Amino acid sequence: MALKIYNSLTRQKEVFRPLNPPYVGMYVCGPTVSGESHLGHARPYITFDIVYRYLTHLGFKVRYVRNITDAGHFEEEGRQAEDKISKKAILEKVEPMELVHKYTSLFHWAMRQFNTIEPNIEPTATGHIVEQIQMIEQILEAGYGYEVNGSVYFDVNKYAASHNYGELSGRVVEDLLETTRVLEGQDEKRNKADFALWKAAPPQHIMRWKSPWGEGFPGWHIECSAMATKYLGPRFDIHGGGMDLLFPHHESEIAQSTICNHVSPVKYWIHNNIITINGKKMGKSYNNVIKLTEMFSGNHPLLSQGFHPMTIRFFILQTHYRSTLDFSNEALLAAEKGLRRLWEAYESLQNLSPDPADGPGDPDLELKINGLLSALDGFMEDDFNTAKVLANFFEVIPTINAIKDLVLPASILSSQTLLRMKEVFHEYLENILGLQSLTAEEGKLGEVLELLVSIRKEAKAKKDFVTSDRIRNELSRIGIDMKDEKNGQMSWRMH
Ligand code: ZN
Repeated sequence: MALKIYNSLTRQKEVFRPLNPPYVGMYVCGPTVSGESHLGHARPYITFDIVYRYLTHLGFKVRYVRNITDAGHFEEEGRQAEDKISKKAILEKVEPMELVHKYTSLFHWAMRQFNTIEPNIEPTATGHIVEQIQMIEQILEAGYGYEVNGSVYFDVNKYAASHNYGELSGRVVEDLLETTRVLEGQDEKRNKADFALWKAAPPQHIMRWKSPWGEGFPGWHIECSAMATKYLGPRFDIHGGGMDLLFPHHESEIAQSTICNHVSPVKYWIHNNIITINGKKMGKSYNNVIKLTEMFSGNHPLLSQGFHPMTIRFFILQTHYRSTLDFSNEALLAAEKGLRRLWEAYESLQNLSPDPADGPGDPDLELKINGLLSALDGFMEDDFNTAKVLANFFEVIPTINAIKDLVLPASILSSQTLLRMKEVFHEYLENILGLQSLTAEEGKLGEVLELLVSIRKEAKAKKDFVTSDRIRNELSRIGIDMKDEKNGQMSWRMH
């Protein structure tokens, strides 16, 4: 089988054929660092972490570029919002780059908690003003932009006359005239659908740069076009982001890049669906924005407790990225239980030794387990279906637990299958899905406890019961039960 990706541009699943194999260029729209990262940031970056990990697993050499939007411009529900970074800086009397630094650090910290792999390049908008100005100049020279009072706008009508404007979002220019209301700079534009490439900075605006059109700052869309072109070339393989970015952001990116580079910039457009909270769209108007720090600590009225970042990652991966995903306290509690169960089975599996009698004692079960494992690649190749992958793992868990609890003998499966299970669990859970134990400390502690288990076993073998009892009693005193299992093994549990 071959990897198939749903392409938002063609609206169908397509076999993934990179432009220049084995290299893959992937650009993902990064965060606007004007405030703390919230739950809305978790889904896209975990989704594209999976894409990155799986492409790497398949042997592709991926250059993953994810920008930082730090120039303070962004759009809110299709409207050009005011420069929030500058506004906040004035209120808090700090330098804007100080806020940018603070929120970028917080974002990086949160991404590490989710065990996402860092992008290969993380360019900032403020570090690429020159490239953005050059691109705007190209658009003006080509006749698809116009300047008014120090601002430059993209001429959408002119573009639409000779290009397929709306090809990604399915919107038409007439729609835009209906949906756009009073916008900043509206009276300057030739057409309501036009968008800003460069904005003249009002006097109170802190973040400003010199340009051929006077002092100002770049539009949001041009940032991604300029940085993607610089690091991935005029046409690259994958462009990703949340579905909310499809329009106007990505549609505008296509228009700008097509005019500058004479080619449609992206082969595969990938969009993850939105998240909702208790069935409602997340937003300030619903008063249900949950910051990641609040999520981890539980310090939010909608949460009964803090949730481990791995619980959130696991919860996100339990749903296919193109489906909507509803967060609720109950759903997260269930996900926490699920991940704990999965991880305990994974750890038990690593400790299972094949029976010297060498099964399979039950050829049907052997066949079933192998079938479940063999299906995993196909699920991932079918547009990264992590939900189905996890469902199969849960079907394997009862067998692992039954062998661990001595309800079934290890010889029920062949040693070959047992070995395969260990390898597949490791590769999928840790490397492809990027999951970890619910607490990293627990992982380290586990290693220490394994060491104590082996010392205690040695002591018992030498009939040194003083040492063996001392280990058990001292651990019990600090809240860890070490239990002697029927098969001569030892297990431990914290209470
Ligand atoms: Zn972008």
